[in-house]
Amino acid sequence: SNLLFQYARKLQQALQRPYYINGHSLIVSCTFGITVYPSEAKTLEDLYRRSETALYAGKSIGTGTIQYLTHEMDTQFTRKIQLERSLFTALEDQSLYLAYQPIIELQSQAVKGFEALLRWNHTALGNIPPDEFIPLAEEASLITPINNWVIIEACEQLAKWQQTIDPELTMAINISPHQFQSDSFIRTLQHIVTERLVSPSSVTLEMTENIAILQTQRTVERMHLIKSLGFRLSIDDFGTGYSSLQYLSAFPIDELKIDKVFIDGLAKNDHALLDSIIQLGRNLELNLVAEGVETEHALTYLKTTDCQYMQGFIFSEPLSVQDVEKRFLTP
Ligand code: C2E
Ligand code: CA
Ligand code: CA
Repeated sequence: SNLLFQYARKLQQALQRPYYINGHSLIVSCTFGITVYPSEAKTLEDLYRRSETALYAGKSIGTGTIQYLTHEMDTQFTRKIQLERSLFTALEDQSLYLAYQPIIELQSQAVKGFEALLRWNHTALGNIPPDEFIPLAEEASLITPINNWVIIEACEQLAKWQQTIDPELTMAINISPHQFQSDSFIRTLQHIVTERLVSPSSVTLEMTENIAILQTQRTVERMHLIKSLGFRLSIDDFGTGYSSLQYLSAFPIDELKIDKVFIDGLAKNDHALLDSIIQLGRNLELNLVAEGVETEHALTYLKTTDCQYMQGFIFSEPLSVQDVEKRFLTP
């Protein structure tokens, strides 16, 4: 492998010299990702993708690096491939399911509704967090069927609970930026309306501020289309994105979900930003939901503000269907 390294260096030196084109001096940089055969890799494609893994790891350090596939990278890669493969059958074998976290009215402590959160119980690897498998599903073009399934499943569940628990219950569903742009997303929403699965006014679609970065006419039109179907719109993780505040007046939104970081600040008596967000939201006549409330201290403080709703471990973690019914279905 030392020989390989020296060979790569030589290639680099040969390539990384200035080229003179039309009076401009251009410098080409050259980064290597190296994986060796025989190894864990069994096919040419595996070998190629492993080198790519090493290449990207090298590039994250800087251009011009020569990076071997390390054991750790290989383990990560193998896990990624394994997850990606089983994602293809996850919907069918029902290892994907939804957990529901109650959203509570602060003053009365009554349950306003639930947020549907995607879960994956992998047969061999156990519970995989959505932050890990959702990006994989995006990469593998599996995100669209999964996302559409989430919407239908959550709406059907809401319809059941409106009949058995409380007719006023609402459901919040997370929408990824990519999903938001897709036509099948709109068709799924239309399906809910035409089939009368549930009243769209009891469904809130949550998206992050990142959607607002692409503040194109198309985004605004799409939001109006969703609103015209009767659904509600919410900005998730509010206050953590990179977008300007200007979008708040351009977008037809109903709600802000105040990110957990502002709630966590309360532990250090740091509430200036939280207070300002609540003021801002109230001035714009938006619903406000505080996210990630974990302590009695935070809960007590929130009750003194104009924020109406909260969600967090202090009241409940995301629950299975059975646990929701055990807790909220009074016989
Ligand atoms: P999110 O929408 O901000 O969801 C809130 C996350 O905070 C959830 O993590 C929830 O379990 C967690 N959480 C709730 N209360 C507390 C608390 O008091 N303390 C702490 N430390 N955490 C709390 P989860 O379920 O792992 O979801 C992570 C993210 O994955 C979500 O963030 C959302 O962006 C995404 N996601 C989840 N389900 C879906 C889905 O069906 N579709 C799409 N597109 N994204 C989803
Ligand atoms: Ca959310
Ligand atoms: Ca959030």
